[in-house]
Amino acid sequence: MYDVIIIGGGAAGLFAAANLKTHNGLVLDHCPEVGRKLLITGSGQCNLTNTLPTDSFLTHFGSKQQRNFLLPALQNFTTKNLYDWFEQQGLPLLVREDGKVFPKSLDARDVRSFLIRLSKVQIITNAHITSITPLEQGFLIATANAAYETRNLILATGGMSYPRTGSDGSGYELAKALGHSIVPLKPGLTAISITDHPFRHLAGNAVRDAFVSFYHSGENAAYEQRRGDVLFTHDGLSGPAILSSSRLV
Ligand SMILES: Cc1cc2nc3c(=O)[nH]c(=O)nc-3n(C[C@H](O)[C@H](O)[C@H](O)COP(=O)(O)OP(=O)(O)OC[C@H]3O[C@@H](n4cnc5c(N)ncnc54)[C@H](O)[C@@H]3O)c2cc1C
Repeated sequence: MYDVIIIGGGAAGLFAAANLKTHNGLVLDHCPEVGRKLLITGSGQCNLTNTLPTDSFLTHFGSKQQRNFLLPALQNFTTKNLYDWFEQQGLPLLVREDGKVFPKSLDARDVRSFLIRLSKVQIITNAHITSITPLEQGFLIATANAAYETRNLILATGGMSYPRTGSDGSGYELAKALGHSIVPLKPGLTAISITDHPFRHLAGNAVRDAFVSFYHSGENAAYEQRRGDVLFTHDGLSGPAILSSSRLV
């Protein structure tokens, strides 16, 4: 019987593993390696936090309801706490002029190997979870060729963007089977595809500091307005102003 099993060795799972007080734990991940998405964050440099205080940091996250959901977590462990944790544990960080925080090496691989090194528990990859059964005191976790019992379970399977990094959405099914309710999923921070794209010939060109308005067909009032760079792509639009508005679109 394990004290803790963490399903998912991404940013959250590895950070949890690095903070476990017990050595009697296990990380299970269905990919051949852990932290694949972490490696591509911040263009491979890993922008691991920001120097903004919690209230201004939160204004960058979705609706008021979504911010209220995140608030207790960010109050309990602030961006400053995260910064201090990495520095105290021995990973030097650097703060850019815009307040973004990176490892001093500007290499996401260093963050991944640092978290793995701090974690004292075994990590098993290629572990596809087939079921989780609640026990009287704990859980039974089955993979195709093994079964594990644990007193505590952390489900850290990520979302469902970039499935080739392992976050294929199967974690939602595991959570649902345990009785959690899942709100309907929508994409965010993504480029926008346009049907019969009239500006395909401009692909690769960008407009700096554009003023962008989004309208529902037939309505005069814009439901979203943003200022920022816009990039024309082969099937639509991208760039910071588009990425930040995409969840509303
Ligand atoms: C291109 C890109 C750039 C980004 N840049 C930044 C950045 O600079 N700064 C930042 O803060 N955030 C950034 N993000 C967001 C960040 O990567 C995610 O918020 C973060 O990785 C989420 O961590 P997670 O542990 O919840 O999920 P993930 O990192 O996705 O990890 C989930 C893990 O669970 C495993 N898993 C999933 N389902 C199962 C299952 N059924 N059984 C077993 N294992 C399973 C997966 O294999 C994976 O290893 C970026 C995202 C992308 C796509």
